[in-house]
Amino acid sequence: MSSDTYDDRATYRGSSYTSASGEAERRKLFSERSERVSAFRSEVGTKSDSPRPARDVMANYDESLVRCSITKPAPGVTRVYKILIDNSGSNRQIANHFRNSTNYLRVNLGLIDHDGQFTFEYFSDHCDGKLISQPIDYVSPNKEGERILTSTLHHVHDADGGDSPEAHECALWDACKINFGEATTRHLILVSDVTGHGMGMGDDQGCPNQRSWKESMDLVEATYTTFELIGCGASADVATLQQQFVTYRHPENLAMNFVSLAYIKEHQYRLGIVLNAFLFLVARHRGPQSVEGFLSRLYEKWLSDPLFGGETDRRAKEAIIRFAKYIDLQSKEKTEMMSRVLVSPTDEVERLLKEEGVFI
Ligand SMILES: [Zn+2]
Repeated sequence: MSSDTYDDRATYRGSSYTSASGEAERRKLFSERSERVSAFRSEVGTKSDSPRPARDVMANYDESLVRCSITKPAPGVTRVYKILIDNSGSNRQIANHFRNSTNYLRVNLGLIDHDGQFTFEYFSDHCDGKLISQPIDYVSPNKEGERILTSTLHHVHDADGGDSPEAHECALWDACKINFGEATTRHLILVSDVTGHGMGMGDDQGCPNQRSWKESMDLVEATYTTFELIGCGASADVATLQQQFVTYRHPENLAMNFVSLAYIKEHQYRLGIVLNAFLFLVARHRGPQSVEGFLSRLYEKWLSDPLFGGETDRRAKEAIIRFAKYIDLQSKEKTEMMSRVLVSPTDEVERLLKEEGVFI
């Protein structure tokens, strides 16, 4: 167990960096950050690559803060995020990763969208009985919200999923029936490695409610401001089938709103990226400054926790550059942003962007 919480290490960076006003102040913060990055870079090859000891998340458990149903957003909240996480057998590790990362999640969400509220739901398939839907009530990204998340996640159980598809059609439908309170800006983010029933996967026993995924997506269109999908499986074929969720109503959004992680072959590594892909999408809703702040923190976090020994800097840069694909900026602005994020010269950033297929 470690008492070292993520916020001890990160809060000051993110808050000061993103709230910087004025060119002189921004330059000063960038110069401080460059020094930290240089210091991390000089250490990555020498630090142990053994993972940090896991935090004792039970220390934050409080039975009175378990919230296993969705009520409504707090009064005055105008922006909410609903996150649907596929909890079937193959995705269990992603669910566990979220469970162990509530502190990281809260700190980053607090920096990115302090006034928004977030409701998570773990879903699987009809054969899982009541485990098909395991929601967590709306939380704010503050310390109480973190305790609610941690406490409730201890009551989220693993589910099996049955056939190859899961009950996306029903999870999406139900996601439109929750109470949004005063929230007029509503973001829906789906995290899954497969599709719903009737979308072309093999071993499909169908939806016992005869619900069509298309009618669910029609309802999503009428209910939510945006819909984004994180495809977290390893199969490129399944990722192609997953595209239908986005292309059915908005083929023009495919490049931006379907974040497929199928290119990451190492299972563990892919799992680690899912949570950051989610934070990235939330940051994107808050604008380019939020994206830059988040990616800058992420780069420093990876450098300070060198999972890949001497390869850490190169791999961190590559992984962060891949997010650039999903930033809606002109090439020049994008290159300049990534140059600041990675504290690297623009010609190196341009080369990396080309290598990762961001600019064709
Ligand atoms: Zn169904």
